Amino acid sequence: MSNYNEMWRSLGLNMTVHDQLMQVLPPTYHDVYLMQPNRPQGMEYFDFVVNEIHGLRIQELQEHKKAGGKVIGAFCVFVPEEIVRAAGGICIGLCSGIDIGTAEAEKVLPRNICPLIKSFMGFKLGKVCPYFESCDMVVGETTCDGKKKAFEILNDYIPVHVMETPHMKKSRDRELWLEEVKDFAHMVEKATGHNITANDLAKAIKEVNGKRQALQRLAELRKQDPAPISGKDSLLIEQIAMYDDVTRFTAKVNELCNELEKKVQASKGVFPSRTPRVIVTGTPMAIPNWKVPHIIETSGAVIVAEELCTGLRYFENEVAEDVQTMDGLLENIAGRCLGVNCAVFTPNTGRIERLLQLVEDYQADGVIHCALSFCDPYTVEANRVENVLKQHKIPLLKIETGYDQEDTGQLKTRIEAFIEMIS
Ligand code: SF4
Ligand code: SF4
Repeated sequence: MSNYNEMWRSLGLNMTVHDQLMQVLPPTYHDVYLMQPNRPQGMEYFDFVVNEIHGLRIQELQEHKKAGGKVIGAFCVFVPEEIVRAAGGICIGLCSGIDIGTAEAEKVLPRNICPLIKSFMGFKLGKVCPYFESCDMVVGETTCDGKKKAFEILNDYIPVHVMETPHMKKSRDRELWLEEVKDFAHMVEKATGHNITANDLAKAIKEVNGKRQALQRLAELRKQDPAPISGKDSLLIEQIAMYDDVTRFTAKVNELCNELEKKVQASKGVFPSRTPRVIVTGTPMAIPNWKVPHIIETSGAVIVAEELCTGLRYFENEVAEDVQTMDGLLENIAGRCLGVNCAVFTPNTGRIERLLQLVEDYQADGVIHCALSFCDPYTVEANRVENVLKQHKIPLLKIETGYDQEDTGQLKTRIEAFIEMIS
């Protein structure tokens, strides 16, 4: 990697803590990713992206800003990337998958709050994330109480626009959300100084749908046995989807899929045929939270799908492209979000129906429900998931964990026992 120290300093990063972070990532990545056997060649691009995680992409964001563009950060798949793109901005997902800024975060947050919230607050207060420091503003949402209140505090450090997300899917909730999407479009126009035309928006929708279609193609290939790609590599791609350049990323995923199609034709996989197949569901796994997938895939199973926002929930619904008017396009954007089966919805039967369908489509032998500690929406909803899977005699393992590594041994024992049971 080139020397980016000057750029990081100019962003105001805390160089000591940032250096610590940069020292942790490469060895972890080597052990978790590069040691996997039979990796597809197309993963080289994604390895390169991670290797340059705080380098090249940040440089691109800085160049975009120098040319007058804006960078807007988001924390949830409800935030419509298409609108930011249509206004000539760049929308990036802020990851928050590591507990490096905990001490700073605990100065303003209670100790018992989910690690994802603690992580993003720690990143901002500790000045360790160049993505965060590249953002002109961030967009929050009211998907859970912890986030909702944390965004008020975050607003003391960076401008935050909050979208009020509905918690039900009734017609009045749809109306509320459409109004929020329209307000968001106005806010983005003001922030970027760029009036969005229907043509801009239609083009941006097509491009972001193209990214979703490439990811759907990858997901489709994972239905095969033997699996042509590991769950860890797939998760990594899904995580990178949130901050990489849209058209470049789409092309690279499609290239990888071309390679995987050939592997499928030749019955070549990354694990032997009949390896136990697992679906992971629950709280999103932000980069670099790879703990549970790594344990699963080094304990004799392969992950074939993620019912997560860092997974299918991110890309399986597309924005309909059947209209050309501004109002129609905004309605279609709002409609797509309401197809996301986030646990903040009540009731959220769609998620459970989808899980049952996935088990059948992917010929899964079991489901692992992984929720972050103190994440009420997912830890409580695990009860519903458990009851329905039991009725359908689908084996389930429920896990609650954080970003620390202290429970790794205990998780490994439980996951190994589960995999043995479903083998
Ligand atoms: S789990 Fe819910 S709140 Fe979290 S990213 Fe997904 S949709 Fe947003
Ligand atoms: S992981 Fe759960 S508690 Fe944490 S921000 Fe997401 S929904 Fe809220």
